[in-house]
Amino acid sequence: MDYINMEHKYEYVSGRERPRGCIFCMAASGELKDLVLYVDDKVVIMLNKFPYNTAHLLIAPSRHVKDLRELTEDEVVALHRAISFSMRVIDETFSPQGYNLGLNQGRAAGASVEHLHFHLVPRRYGEYNFMETIVGARSVLQKPETVWRILKPKFDVLRGGRPHH
Ligand SMILES: [Zn+2]
Repeated sequence: MDYINMEHKYEYVSGRERPRGCIFCMAASGELKDLVLYVDDKVVIMLNKFPYNTAHLLIAPSRHVKDLRELTEDEVVALHRAISFSMRVIDETFSPQGYNLGLNQGRAAGASVEHLHFHLVPRRYGEYNFMETIVGARSVLQKPETVWRILKPKFDVLRGGRPHH
């Protein structure tokens, strides 16, 4: 299944208003595998196809929740564990110097997908150079597909067990 082609299809069909399918629900059901690092009945962890930085992750509840306040306590715990585990793996792999963790809830807030999801963006000092500041280019060091191949085996240890702390 080709994620890029599907997205174009959605844009064509829906005029960009709303995707016909939800990428997080499709990832949770196993229908979508591209860039997906981990899935269980509570959480989905995947790489952003359009990253702001190397290893920009999207971490979502497996359930189609649109509002932070709709999460169950179990989901909150699972999401927190997923975020913590992801930070540990990214620390070991890419040694960033900081993180942005963000939630855009609602289209007015910039959410392009209504299914609740956190953005986890590793950050480093000095990663934005002069030209990037001028032209607004994203500081993408490695392609998501490349990062997926590096990270996927490290997230497989989550399967059938809880994230390590
Ligand atoms: Zn969904």
